[in-house]
Amino acid sequence: MSKMKAAVFVEPGKIMLEERPVPTIGAGEALVRVTTTTICGTDVHILKGEYPVERGRIVGHEPVGVIAELGAGVTGYAVGQRVVVGAITPCGQCGACLSGDLSQCGGRPLGGWRFGNSIDGCQAEYVRVPFAMANLAPVPDGLTDEQVLMCPDIMSTGFSGAESGSISIGDVVAVFAQGPIGLCATAGARLRGAARIAVVDGIPKRLAMAKALGADVTINYREQDAVKAILELTEGRGVDVAIEALGTQPTFESCLRVLRPGGVLSSLGVYSGKLTLPLDAFAAGLGDHRLVTTLCPGGKERMRRLMSIVASGRVDLSAMVTHRFPLDRIEQAYELFANQRDGVLKVAITTGSS
Ligand SMILES: [Zn+2]
Ligand SMILES: [Zn+2]
Repeated sequence: MSKMKAAVFVEPGKIMLEERPVPTIGAGEALVRVTTTTICGTDVHILKGEYPVERGRIVGHEPVGVIAELGAGVTGYAVGQRVVVGAITPCGQCGACLSGDLSQCGGRPLGGWRFGNSIDGCQAEYVRVPFAMANLAPVPDGLTDEQVLMCPDIMSTGFSGAESGSISIGDVVAVFAQGPIGLCATAGARLRGAARIAVVDGIPKRLAMAKALGADVTINYREQDAVKAILELTEGRGVDVAIEALGTQPTFESCLRVLRPGGVLSSLGVYSGKLTLPLDAFAAGLGDHRLVTTLCPGGKERMRRLMSIVASGRVDLSAMVTHRFPLDRIEQAYELFANQRDGVLKVAITTGSS
C-alpha cells in the first residue's frame, strides 16, 4: 500500500504530520493529488479542541490539485485534469441538495461539510473526493493554484455574506471583522453594488487591505466607537446590510446596533457558548430586521462561478496569501497561523508535487 504525508488531528492542542495510506476510492468518487492547500480558522478551532472531530482525522478542507484516479461511474473528467473542490462537498441528490441547501446536505446541520470533519481532509498529498461529479471543478487554463486557493472556502463564504444579505445597488454596508472571511465579504459587497462600505477591525494592516478590496471607510475599533462612527456616517439612518464575520457577541451585537429598521444582518461567524439579542437594538422584535446565516456554499457550480470571477480580474485576492510552506513544515504553518504571527492572513501549503 503506498503511503502519503498528512496533517492529522491527534488530540486537542496537537495536529501533526503523519504517514498514512493513500486513500482508496469507490464508485462515484475521485482521488485528487493535492498540489496546494491552506489552513482555515476552523482548523484552528479543531486544533484547540473547540470544534470536535474524531482523533486521527486528516484535517483541511481547501484543496487545489490534479485528478489522480476516477471511481466507477464518474464521467466527464480525465485523470491529470486540474481541479478545485469546495470545502463543502454536497451529494447533489438528497432532498436538501435538491432544495438548494447544499451545505446542509442530508438535512443535517452542516451535513455538507465533510472534508476534515466527517471524512479525511486535504492537508495531505492525496484526498478522496466524495460525490465526484457534484464536486470536481476544473480550473480554467491560465489560473495558478494560488489564484484559486481562496475559492473552496474563504471567497465562497465571504461572498455569501454579501449575497445572503441581498445587497442592492446603492446600499450602505457595514462589515464587522476583516480577517480573511470579512475581507472577502467586503470584496463581495463591492461586487454586489454597495454604494458605501464601512469596515471594522483592530489591525491596521487588515484595514489597509480592506481598502484595497473595496472598503470606503475603515474603522479601528481600538481607536473609536465603531457603532457611533457608522451611525454618524449614515446620519443616524443605519446601514442597509450588516455583515458579521467573526462569531462573537460584541460583533453580532454591533451589527444589530448599526442596522436600519428593515435591514439585513448577514451572519458568517462561528459562535460558541451563548448568543444573546439586545432587545433595544432589536426593536423588541418589531424592527422588520432579517437575520440570515450562511455556511460556505460548495459544489462544482459554485466553484466554477468563483473561478470565473478570478479569471475576469474583477476581484484580486492574491495579496491574501502572506506566507508559504511545504507540507513537510505544516506544523510550523499552524504555529504561525494559530497565533496570528507576522501579519499572517492566509498560508499556502504546497506538496511540492505540482
Ligand atoms: Zn474553512
Ligand atoms: Zn445532499
